[in-house]
Amino acid sequence: MPLSFQHPLPDPEVPFSPRRHTLTTHVGSVAVGSAHPVVVQSMTNTDTADPVGTAEQVAALARAGSQLVRITVNNEDAAAAVPEIRTRLADLGVDVPLVGDFHYNGHLLLTRFPDCARTLDKYRINPGNVGSKRRDENFRTIVQVAVDNGKPVRIGVNWGSLDQDLLTAMMDENARRPEPWTARDVYIEAMVESALRSAVLAQETGLGADRIILSAKVSGVRDLADVYGRLASRCEYPLHLGLTEAGLGMKGIVASTAGLSLLLSQGIGDTIRVSLTPRPNGDRTEEVQVAQQILQSLELRSFTPQVTACPGCGRTTSTFFQHMAEDIQAYLREQMPVWRARHPGVEEMKVAVMGCVVNGPGESKHANIGISLPGTFEDPVAPVYVDGALHTTLRGNAIVAEFLEILEAYVGRTYPARGETVEVAGAR
Ligand code: SF4
Repeated sequence: MPLSFQHPLPDPEVPFSPRRHTLTTHVGSVAVGSAHPVVVQSMTNTDTADPVGTAEQVAALARAGSQLVRITVNNEDAAAAVPEIRTRLADLGVDVPLVGDFHYNGHLLLTRFPDCARTLDKYRINPGNVGSKRRDENFRTIVQVAVDNGKPVRIGVNWGSLDQDLLTAMMDENARRPEPWTARDVYIEAMVESALRSAVLAQETGLGADRIILSAKVSGVRDLADVYGRLASRCEYPLHLGLTEAGLGMKGIVASTAGLSLLLSQGIGDTIRVSLTPRPNGDRTEEVQVAQQILQSLELRSFTPQVTACPGCGRTTSTFFQHMAEDIQAYLREQMPVWRARHPGVEEMKVAVMGCVVNGPGESKHANIGISLPGTFEDPVAPVYVDGALHTTLRGNAIVAEFLEILEAYVGRTYPARGETVEVAGAR
């Protein structure tokens, strides 16, 4: 009996939504907005009052690909250290824009430490954390410093520190509705209102609309999609996306990926941060790698060559190909700082490492360069495909080293340094 489809097939022509139109906000040398690629950013977890440790971590994050780095400015020692952090970064050859994260005492620190205010490239303010009695006054003071120094501001509302007066007023108003909203809906709406009202207040204080970025961070994926969906439809400011308190390890990575992917695929989001809780002494740059991988998986940006590796199955009982996939991935990462400068376009390269010849050659042909290792009971040979054609067949114990040589030659040939020409076989 022939198979028949009961459901319409997905339309392959339906693309991701186009980017939502926004203004452009310049943060130092980095442009944030819909006319520019989605910007990856990160945050240090060092004590900002320690300029040596903080500069080193900022440099590590920037070298990993973070285009903006946020540092907490929580007290006078931290504010006083900011200019030295900038100087040390210059000594390290790093000029990534620095964002200062202020809570409660930002109005005091930014006015008492003018060098800090001048050095930072953006200020982040949470309207729920600028004081209760003089909230608007403190908020305006920070904005005025931004205006005086020509700096942009991120107005960052947070689920855990929402403006309680606004929330209470909106809950009271909701109670008077004939059909009240759920508490969750009021909470989400209060976050959106808090961000938008603060933006209006900032503009009334003199800050240009093109110097404002908004964020409204929550810790649940559905809440994130909801709050940013509403925010996106009601303003033209660039949006900073991120799930707050995403969590440890795999949970944090998966939750962040789910939340950010939902929004980015709808064209929402102009800069992203993946907030992972690091393991003790863990690698802080992991959050940058995850953010880049989300953007690259969605084909929004390219940062590093991608390795396609099969999951393995009963046809390959050895772990050799898993080690090989790992070795190749590590090699690509190690080479990227050099390749990025020397071989423009190499970040688009696709490499396939497959466990046997059942699907291996097919997958290899779709990659720029691919190898299929011998599966169980197969001939101990590994065909290598380059640009869809069989290039050579490797055998013996030096397969990995020989494959990396072929890979290196391919990169040199296919992504020549600027000013070099590509040699085409047979051309004279
Ligand atoms: S390529 Fe081969 S080893 Fe890998 S999953 Fe497919 S059949 Fe299994």
